[in-house]
Amino acid sequence: MPSVSSDHIIAAPATPPGRGAVAVVRVSGPDLKSLALELTGKPNLKPRHAHYVAFLAEDGSAIDRGLALYFPAPRSYTGEDMLELHCHGSPVVVEMLLKRLFQLGARPAQPGEFSRRAFLNGKLDLAQAEAVAALIESASEAAARAALRSLEGVFSKQVHRLMEALTQIRVYVEASIDFSDQDLDLLGQGEVAERLRNWLEDLKDLTSRARQGRLLREGMRVVIAGPPNVGKSSLLNRLAEREAAIVTEIPGTTRDLVAEYLNLDGFVLYLIDTAGLRNSEDPIEREGMRRARQAMESADRILLVLDSRDPSEGESLLAELPTGIPVTRIYNKIDLSGLPPAVTETPSAAVYLSAQTGAGVELLKQHLKRSAGFEAEAEDALAARRRHLYALERAEDFCLKGYEELQGRAELLAENLRLAQQALAEITGEVTCEDLLGRIFSEFCIGK
Ligand code: GDP
Repeated sequence: MPSVSSDHIIAAPATPPGRGAVAVVRVSGPDLKSLALELTGKPNLKPRHAHYVAFLAEDGSAIDRGLALYFPAPRSYTGEDMLELHCHGSPVVVEMLLKRLFQLGARPAQPGEFSRRAFLNGKLDLAQAEAVAALIESASEAAARAALRSLEGVFSKQVHRLMEALTQIRVYVEASIDFSDQDLDLLGQGEVAERLRNWLEDLKDLTSRARQGRLLREGMRVVIAGPPNVGKSSLLNRLAEREAAIVTEIPGTTRDLVAEYLNLDGFVLYLIDTAGLRNSEDPIEREGMRRARQAMESADRILLVLDSRDPSEGESLLAELPTGIPVTRIYNKIDLSGLPPAVTETPSAAVYLSAQTGAGVELLKQHLKRSAGFEAEAEDALAARRRHLYALERAEDFCLKGYEELQGRAELLAENLRLAQQALAEITGEVTCEDLLGRIFSEFCIGK
């Protein structure tokens, strides 16, 4: 990839705001030699060496003394000339240093702009750049390890391998189209079918590793729903181990969504308690129910809470839940019905518990982890986002569609394989639009 230098010099603090021993300010641009000279008074800073210097104001006085490191292009994070300035960790000093840099021609960096330049200069592909953000944000050791694996290119390499393999299959298919009049039944020989099957296996393997990574990163969105007064808020409080939601005997208390983050051995749950579903004329309660339905539609799983003494009212709600989202029925208040704590996974998922006494709640936690496919020891998880999983799923769909054409139209097979390849290319950013890049990098913090 040719080096893409932006005209502007950018600068931003790389360390978080606040006081500390040291703060780091980063500068990146096509040519930093003259800026470095004016700032430090030293010509020709030795590349990748720590120089103890004074950071000079316009009148030659020292703003602060600290370390300057010079990374000439292309051997830097962004692929451009870069300066890393270590000053004392005071917000005032950082501010003065930045002002001086702006005076010398730099402008403030936008969120993710350093990483964006790294991507444009071919230092990182898109999946790797996203892994940088994932590593910074990681909420657990497992998530950090998965992010590092992706950052080091494990994810991208697997995606490339899949793309390579598709190219080889496409060569076969295209040849069979070109020579179709010569009695060369290339597709019929089973070679392509066999390769496609293997390819799908490899893709599934990668998808499951990416799914683990997404779980580690984003967790699982679980919505608690059901009729009023069955113990939805009590269940949220029990899982959160604190009184997050108001619990009363009065039906219809929870009207807005109440949400809690939960960390189960590294597995992050985003729990949402919703207004009870019932016929009500109260406009506030009706709005609460509208929000409840909306929350359910974007859930990874719905917990439908029922009173184990009389589950019929809640069970009748099953038909009203959004389709396609897995549901676990929670038979609550077993301390009153006298049923033992239990969990069933098939044919439909159900847990018998008491939000009040806590009996059976551990079974629910295990069930949630299992249903998400979460493995605490997943050593090969790869940091991934929804966007990546979506691309992997589309690649699989196209490939399956192509597979169906094995005995049919070779042109359609070829076209679907091409589309599968294109879906994969979106992961590493080989085909991307400006718009997508803008969205991805704007989520980064400034200075990254
Ligand atoms: P929600 O309206 O579905 O959110 O239900 P709440 O959590 O507000 O609970 C309604 C009532 O049921 C409250 O008086 C709770 O104390 C009670 N409750 C909730 N769970 C249990 C349980 O497992 N056992 C018993 N005995 N009472 C419960």
